[in-house]
Amino acid sequence: MAGFLRSLYNRFSNTAEIDWDDLEASLVAADLGPRLAMSLVEELRDLGRQITADDVVEITRQHLAQRLPPDLPPPLPPSSDKPFVFLIVGVNGVGKTTTCAKLAHWLQRRGSLTYLAAADTFRAAATEQLLRWGQRLDIPVITGPANADPSSVCFNAHQQAIRDGARYLICDTAGRLHNRHNLMEELSKIRRTLAKQDPAAPHLTLLVLDASTGSNALQQAKEFHKASPLDGFILTKMDGSGKGGVAVAIHEQLGIPPRFLGTGEEPADFALFQRARFLEDMI
Ligand code: GDP
Repeated sequence: MAGFLRSLYNRFSNTAEIDWDDLEASLVAADLGPRLAMSLVEELRDLGRQITADDVVEITRQHLAQRLPPDLPPPLPPSSDKPFVFLIVGVNGVGKTTTCAKLAHWLQRRGSLTYLAAADTFRAAATEQLLRWGQRLDIPVITGPANADPSSVCFNAHQQAIRDGARYLICDTAGRLHNRHNLMEELSKIRRTLAKQDPAAPHLTLLVLDASTGSNALQQAKEFHKASPLDGFILTKMDGSGKGGVAVAIHEQLGIPPRFLGTGEEPADFALFQRARFLEDMI
């Protein structure tokens, strides 16, 4: 038991009778969202008997397990000679560029040549940051000039990755959520451009979210899912907040699964999402 389940246990282990409002508030504070919090409290109340802190933890864990997806296999490179393409989206500051580097490192360590495309051409710092990661981790980074069309950077990177026989290509994009129309245009142009060289690309569009932003992360997921269909999300900064409740809320409300978790600033602080581990160690 860790994080939020432990604090639930500690909070209710010394009370003779559970205060339902208090329990609901604790569940909402863990970013599960009001609807899920309410249904959990109802389930416990319906037991119609004295509830212990153990019951609270066990039923919460079961409730969350039902609402999280089963473990998905890691993304395998396609059987064709073209790379598996990730389109990574998210607002600035959530850890998107770091996550692209970590994902590349994770794939490369499993023996697959991986390329990075610096398509956040809006922020020069993002390209520089990705280049630094590339140097440090020995991963080729394809860049374009400042303010270049992000889709042309993705096109060139894709072409080069195909030519060099790379197995994965990860495209880091800009996250300007304040203008959904522009974002939608930009992301659909990148999709069309990638599909020119491989109709199956991008194979996986993943949204990067900062776990410590709670219900804001859910809002971002809703906005991005409207702008560009998402296949899943990556929750970063799981080391900081100790809260991962928002993963359950996003999966329940939007039907998109968590795929990876970021647990620190170093390249190795990255893991495939696994339900049992998440419920045991992270929530
Ligand atoms: P971007 O603007 O979304 O591309 O965000 P960056 O990749 O520049 O990351 C923003 C900050 O978050 C940096 O200081 C990263 O080191 C930090 N960061 C990214 N992922 C994690 C994580 O999983 N845990 C922690 N603690 N920090 C992270």
